[in-house]
Amino acid sequence: MFDRGQQVIPSGVNSPVRFYEPFPFFAASGKGSKIVSVDHRTYIDYCMGYGGLLLGHAYGPVTNYVKYQLDNGSLFCVPTENEVKLAEYFSKIIPFAEMTRIVNTGAEATMNAIRLARAFTKKKNIIKFDGCYHGAYDYVLVNAGPNSKGVPSSDGGIEEAASRTLVLPYNNFAELERVINTNDSIAALIIEPVLANSGLILPEKDYLSSIRQITRKENIVLIFDEVITGFRLSLGGASEFFGIHPDLATYAKAMGNGFPIAAIAGKKELMEQFAPKGKVYQASTFAGNPASVAASLSTIKNLLEKKNEIYPKTAKTCDSIVHGIRDALQELKLGFVLTSIGSMFQLFFTLDEVKDASIKRKTNLNFFKIMYEELLNSGVFIPPSQFETCFVSYSHSEEDVDQTIESYSNALQKVKEKLCSNN
Ligand SMILES: *Cc1c(COP(=O)(O)O)cnc(C)c1O
Repeated sequence: MFDRGQQVIPSGVNSPVRFYEPFPFFAASGKGSKIVSVDHRTYIDYCMGYGGLLLGHAYGPVTNYVKYQLDNGSLFCVPTENEVKLAEYFSKIIPFAEMTRIVNTGAEATMNAIRLARAFTKKKNIIKFDGCYHGAYDYVLVNAGPNSKGVPSSDGGIEEAASRTLVLPYNNFAELERVINTNDSIAALIIEPVLANSGLILPEKDYLSSIRQITRKENIVLIFDEVITGFRLSLGGASEFFGIHPDLATYAKAMGNGFPIAAIAGKKELMEQFAPKGKVYQASTFAGNPASVAASLSTIKNLLEKKNEIYPKTAKTCDSIVHGIRDALQELKLGFVLTSIGSMFQLFFTLDEVKDASIKRKTNLNFFKIMYEELLNSGVFIPPSQFETCFVSYSHSEEDVDQTIESYSNALQKVKEKLCSNN
């Protein structure tokens, strides 16, 4: 299938991270915590749609409501009551979400949030952080250049756009302060409140609150990119978890439990700038499409009704896995770093402190590959990159945890053998 795919799909995949050597497995179906491949192997899934499937694959109440909606139409391009209900949920759950616009993808959400911030502040530059991912378009697909001015990180990217983005190290407030104090044209600061796109990197104590203070003082729109953390870290996302209110926030993955839907939410004075009444143009044919909105409404309804069960349970499942891996590391006398928060975790093949994207140059990718392949061969699927995050869902069971810990122990044994044969 991969050979066939490569003839007609560039590299055989529709998004680059899906490829790994020698070739990715093909999915046939998914249910609960598991994916079944076309060659009839069952995998416990920790990629979980890169965090999208908080409730699990094919979660009954969500799929049933989507099926009901599909029998009643899948695209109207006029408003529906469900769109209003969805925005009302946002206001109810997220205190600063006075207004919400529904879009289709995370990239679309961050792109429009940034445009909104520029229009509102009448300033042009933005700050982003090295290792944070906000989508694959020119303003945010940038690397750090000299004096932290961005340069395109993709061929075809435009220097003029990238140079408007200042790229700073994560978890370094002193550097941020210096840059803000020497630049007066910063419209927005966009950040993943928990950095989940360079492996999993947690914000240091007081980092986010310091960012909130300085952006407020300097009239910089603070955008939390909650595409991963939203509805996952807690019902109200990272902003609720850390008790910090940004001016705007973007949501996507977990809000639709696997369906393509995203949102920009925030303060009314900002959100009202969107066209047609405002002068910030944002539009999409599929925005608020009935199938995705039904999925999201049902997802959030379930999360809301069972929040006292879902969030503690997923955190506990994640904790058990993390403890199991930690025990295995200890037993094998391996000092690798394990990070986790809520229902997310990652193991880094480094002995260095994990605090920013410089970790990308310090981990042993060969060890990751050995572990990845061992896990996959024993029926555990994690994202095929050291620099992604593993996600636990409400559907993962105690048996899944036991099998996962055993698989990790065996995989780490293989890493240890490799380490010893290197020495
Ligand atoms: C996945 C992701 C995006 C992009 O979302 P798409 O739906 O893939 O466009 C943006 N920000 C963060 C933090 C993400 O993890």
